[in-house]
Amino acid sequence: MVLKNIIQEAYHKVNSIDDKGQLASYIPELVNVDSESFGVYISTIDHVNFGIGNCHDKFSIQSIAKVLSLSLAYSILGEKIWSRLGVEPSGTAFNSLVQLEVDNGIPRNPFINAGAIVISDILLSHLKNPKDDFLAFVRTISNNSELNYSTKIATSEKAVGYRNIALCNFIKSFNNIENDPSEVLDFYFDLCSLEMSCKELTEVFLFLANNGYNNNDNSTIVTKSQSKRINALMQTCGFYDESGEFAFKVGLPGKSGVGGGIIAIHPNQYVIAVWSPKLNKKGNSYKGMRFLEEFTTKSELSIF
Ligand code: GLU
Repeated sequence: MVLKNIIQEAYHKVNSIDDKGQLASYIPELVNVDSESFGVYISTIDHVNFGIGNCHDKFSIQSIAKVLSLSLAYSILGEKIWSRLGVEPSGTAFNSLVQLEVDNGIPRNPFINAGAIVISDILLSHLKNPKDDFLAFVRTISNNSELNYSTKIATSEKAVGYRNIALCNFIKSFNNIENDPSEVLDFYFDLCSLEMSCKELTEVFLFLANNGYNNNDNSTIVTKSQSKRINALMQTCGFYDESGEFAFKVGLPGKSGVGGGIIAIHPNQYVIAVWSPKLNKKGNSYKGMRFLEEFTTKSELSIF
């Protein structure tokens, strides 16, 4: 069966199930979405593109942005980056403080909040205008000058970001934050507030299906080895405390965000983005997980 038909079939099947998820409400502005939205978009490295449902609607990509901030920081710092954070699944919630104490302020991986805050600190130390430069990076890799942050979402998260503030200060107490915590957090909240549609997400992430090269002009975004490692981290740490389940059921490197988006990558083949805002108990899109399971089962296009 051709990809398009598999996607259509899986989409309609999953769209008809009772969505047991809940909107993320701990960031107040995130509830201002149509909770029934459901979009899917696929882009292959051979330039086959197909979308269905709300695939052109922009949404808050939240933690999916952590893959992009890691990519930029890794391309700047190389392997030195791993002196500041680890590469192990955490087995705890994305915003947990508990491990940091025993791990002396070294976050387990770049995709839990603690790790993404350290990455934000690294970018702050290495970029002249972090907010503008990071946005320019995301726009350049996708050749899309319309991508932007959402001031509304960033402001909403800043107002209630008590846990992230605690995390950043706690890490600073172990000397693993170089900059002023309030500047680090402002930048972290800004990057989580990036908005994209499923189509735009696939365009941004295609380099990770293409060994680190820009699929349009073949320029290097990250090295081949870095691309492999970022994919490995997505496979093992991309879905909070449900990363094992995602590997088991879907079998692709990926990353989710509390806005209900998921990006999944089949190296050397394709990138697929799904958005449905209601989240399961582990904080991943309920329909998004179900759709991707259905898609890789029917298409037999997982990495395993
Ligand atoms: N900005 C969100 C937070 O820090 C990101 C959470 C997520 O998408 O996992 O809580």
